[in-house]
Amino acid sequence: MDTLEQNRQHVLQQIRLAETAAQRIAGSVQLIAVSKTFPASDIRLLYQHGQRAFGENYIQEFQQKQYDLADCPHIEWHIIGHVQSNKTRPVAEHAHWLHTVSSLKTAQRLSQQRPKHLPPLQICMEINISGETAKHGIAPDEMLPLAQAIVALPHLNLRGLMCVASANASDEILRQQFEKMADLLRDLQNIAPQADTLSMGMSGDMAVAIECGANMVRVGSAIFGRRAV
Ligand SMILES: *Cc1c(COP(=O)(O)O)cnc(C)c1O
Repeated sequence: MDTLEQNRQHVLQQIRLAETAAQRIAGSVQLIAVSKTFPASDIRLLYQHGQRAFGENYIQEFQQKQYDLADCPHIEWHIIGHVQSNKTRPVAEHAHWLHTVSSLKTAQRLSQQRPKHLPPLQICMEINISGETAKHGIAPDEMLPLAQAIVALPHLNLRGLMCVASANASDEILRQQFEKMADLLRDLQNIAPQADTLSMGMSGDMAVAIECGANMVRVGSAIFGRRAV
């Protein structure tokens, strides 16, 4: 078997173990394979083994890969990097999910630019759960007001919340941050009952994230290897 597919199988096994440990339903956590900086050929290889959801951070790289992977029509593209409000069009026109909405202006543009023949763009709001100033995302207390405005937009489907937890934090700190996210999702569900998604957990912290209720994990280096940048 290829190394990449071996890595993916290992990650899927870790996800199953974490689901079991948390008494979660087997298969309830979806793996987003984060392929940023890695070549389209790596994506094609995993696609041939059945992986469908891929995460990309940079819009130009996403567009190039989508062009190169026209032979893989069932890829589900997840944009997980910050998108400036003047760079929304390729996302609206070509992505399936955007995990990082953090302003009404961006959301409005995405809704306007989403082609009418496509299903609504699936979106999550990014929460700056660690409160670090260098991080993107809205503060927890901005979540409900932004959600109220977003649910009125016709071509977006507000599916939930996303975060990047503190790097190199103890399990205890991570657990605090991820549990706060789960609380926020419950608050969100009061106004958006369709919101079912907690996008949290990466190569280093996915087990704790799943323990706290993550149902999408975004895993890059544990599958593709270390990134050069
Ligand atoms: C790069 C990235 C990931 C994947 O990180 P790994 O530590 O390589 O698993 C997940 N989420 C976001 C937002 C990223 O930018």
